[in-house]
Amino acid sequence: MQPVFNLRNMKILVTGGAGFIGSHTVVELQQAGYDVVAIDNFENSSPQVVDNIKKISGKPFDFIKVDIREKHALNDVFVTHPDIKAVIHFAAYKAVGESVEKPLAYYENNVGGTLNLVEAMQAHGVQNLVFSSSCTVYGDVKADALPITENSPIVKANSPYGNTKKIGEELLFDVAKSSTTKIVALRYFNPIGAHDSALIGELPNGVPNNLIPFVTQTAIGMREKLTIFGNDYPTRDGSCIRDYIHVVDLAKAHVKAIEFLNTHTDQYAVFNIGTGNGNTVLEVVAAFEKVSGKKLNYAFGPRREGDVVQIFASCDKAANILGWKAERTLDNALETAWKWELHLQALKGANQ
Ligand code: UDP
Repeated sequence: MQPVFNLRNMKILVTGGAGFIGSHTVVELQQAGYDVVAIDNFENSSPQVVDNIKKISGKPFDFIKVDIREKHALNDVFVTHPDIKAVIHFAAYKAVGESVEKPLAYYENNVGGTLNLVEAMQAHGVQNLVFSSSCTVYGDVKADALPITENSPIVKANSPYGNTKKIGEELLFDVAKSSTTKIVALRYFNPIGAHDSALIGELPNGVPNNLIPFVTQTAIGMREKLTIFGNDYPTRDGSCIRDYIHVVDLAKAHVKAIEFLNTHTDQYAVFNIGTGNGNTVLEVVAAFEKVSGKKLNYAFGPRREGDVVQIFASCDKAANILGWKAERTLDNALETAWKWELHLQALKGANQ
């Protein structure tokens, strides 16, 4: 028989809790009845997000401004909250291009920060960890290997960012093997969209690197046009294929991962978190135009260095073991992303 836990009283620490995926996960954890303490250094997020999470959930939670590179401050979180039972670790840098310019910053924050966190967890007897990994660990995938399963080989990363995710998984695997710490690594595909309330969403720093914020910023007039990177790929319309997953579905996967850690004895487990469907860039643009009613100004440009041609997930393992699967559509994700962009514009207007 599996042990029965009183999940309602369980306290979860969320690092990067004011970030894009972190904030949506705090909401889902609170709505599932968990007690949350969140930390963030606000380098790529804002204190307003913390208030907005509380507005959505209608529940308070403890928030502490902490940088995971600062060992003592991180340790103090566990001293202040000795009842933390599990950690969900989002806090990390995530811009591929920037990681090429500043590899040391990426290794220090993403790898060093993870080490600090595991050390603090072990010092305080916290044994459950969910780690944000990425489908980037699979590298460029051959068409006949799709949809990609968790058994597919991990390849040499093609950016320092990708390498920090690969190293993160490897170091956590070794930690799990050598201790009582139990770890779930979730390999995210392409998270997009925003909360239905339009109170939280993605906050890109400067010119967005990712497709969806670039699309919504173009549609709202902040950018002149979207450049589609390549139209001569061997895909159905020549543009790259990705598995775009709604951030709320992704957040819910973390709640399932916590339940899994509570009810299973596995030391280390990895799950793909995607929809199982691949869409081309052109399909995304067409879907966006449909749901927003806006014509998007776009042009084809050269291929972007380092882009994989196509990747989408097999999510059978997450369905069978976590009991999780994506429920929302691409249209819904794009609709919420657009609502979020409109909300940001309204805020700017109000502040002028
Ligand atoms: N993309 C694009 N124009 C942009 C940004 C992205 O055509 O301005 C394409 C990119 O080449 C890829 C897809 O959109 O095929 C998703 O890119 P993103 O950076 O969002 O995610 P990635 O899968 O690269 O991490």
